[in-house]
Amino acid sequence: MLRRAQWDVYEAGDGEEGLELAMKHRPDVILCDLLMPRVNGYQVCRAVRERIELRHTKILVVTGRDYTADRKSAEEAGADGYLVKPLEASQLMSALDKLMPGHAGAAPVVPAAAPAKSEGPGTRVKFWGVRGSIPSPGNGTVHFGGNTSCVEVRVGEQIVVLDAGSGIRGLGNALVEEFRGKPIELTLLLTHTHWDHIQGFPFFVPAYDSRNRINIYGYEGALSGLRTALEGQMESPYFPVSLDELPGNLRIHELREMEFTAGAVQVEACFTNHPGVCVAYKLRTSDGVVVYMPDNETKRGTVNVVNGQVVPDPADEKLKDFIRGVDVLIMDSQYTAEEYQTHLNWGHGCIDDVVRMAMENDVKRLYAFHHDPAHDDRFISGMLMHARQIAERAASPLVIEAAREGQEITLRAGVAAAR
Ligand SMILES: [Zn+2]
Ligand SMILES: [Zn+2]
Repeated sequence: MLRRAQWDVYEAGDGEEGLELAMKHRPDVILCDLLMPRVNGYQVCRAVRERIELRHTKILVVTGRDYTADRKSAEEAGADGYLVKPLEASQLMSALDKLMPGHAGAAPVVPAAAPAKSEGPGTRVKFWGVRGSIPSPGNGTVHFGGNTSCVEVRVGEQIVVLDAGSGIRGLGNALVEEFRGKPIELTLLLTHTHWDHIQGFPFFVPAYDSRNRINIYGYEGALSGLRTALEGQMESPYFPVSLDELPGNLRIHELREMEFTAGAVQVEACFTNHPGVCVAYKLRTSDGVVVYMPDNETKRGTVNVVNGQVVPDPADEKLKDFIRGVDVLIMDSQYTAEEYQTHLNWGHGCIDDVVRMAMENDVKRLYAFHHDPAHDDRFISGMLMHARQIAERAASPLVIEAAREGQEITLRAGVAAAR
């Protein structure tokens, strides 16, 4: 379509390739997505703005997400415009015309529509924190727990920790007890740096012992790098010890690829529908596959005005592939259907939609996660019963649980057993 409108077009498969093409061809306009492998859209914007050769290049962000925070971050990173997909050809053409008045005269043409081996004990998954947003201790949350996101996965001897919410404090103490002075080595995978996913790290005791080795993995955020975000919460006056002063051997790895290995575990990441840069992780072991997706808004798609059919949201299509057939899915199910009506575009899931998505994609076990701090034990139990009724009515074999602090799951040759 753009070529027919007299533009010269160069296509890139990811942000890195896009930057190389931009340096080579010095384009008038860059159309840039936000969530891309290797180099994300915010990084592309910043890199373009740093290059004097590209000072005349305009950047038009074209994304499937419409969060106010993302618009602001894109603008701060140097974007000149922001368009939300799905997109009419005329919208794109008029946005281009605004950026480059009089460039293209032609009328727009509307286009047609390897697994790690665990020996013996199997893979164990343990919940140390299941809450979203802020820790919520008290009488009403004793059963499901009040700590924020942290899940431990043991594949044989290897320890993988998913997120560092306040739940990681309890995990740290348990590890110190278990190892009794022997060095602890572990991998910490961060989905994003919202506070409820990193706030426990300053209280993670193994980080204070020089014999231990902690490898931290995550993606660069919308506004800053992973290290900067982790350092920020430990800066004075917020905390007395800086990240650099921690004696444990910490290594921070900023990820660029969507597939990588952490020790012997094969990991795959997928961007989720959540403000900023946030991913879900899939861990493959010989015992089964676990997906951890703590922050995600399931999208309901849009109704096609012409034929009245619901058009699925492209962002959800990728997530469906990502969760298809997995043994254990730990997924953001923060709201009831009623609550969701007033929380559209907040970046969190509605339990009804999550159950449907899990059933339709042959998930074996679903753990509702990222419980709302305002939901007490009774309320979460009610949500769980409702979720199970949906599966029952659909005669689905899906097993549904609400994740509970202290709960442990063992995966062995594809059979998940809960304790
Ligand atoms: Zn969260
Ligand atoms: Zn978040």
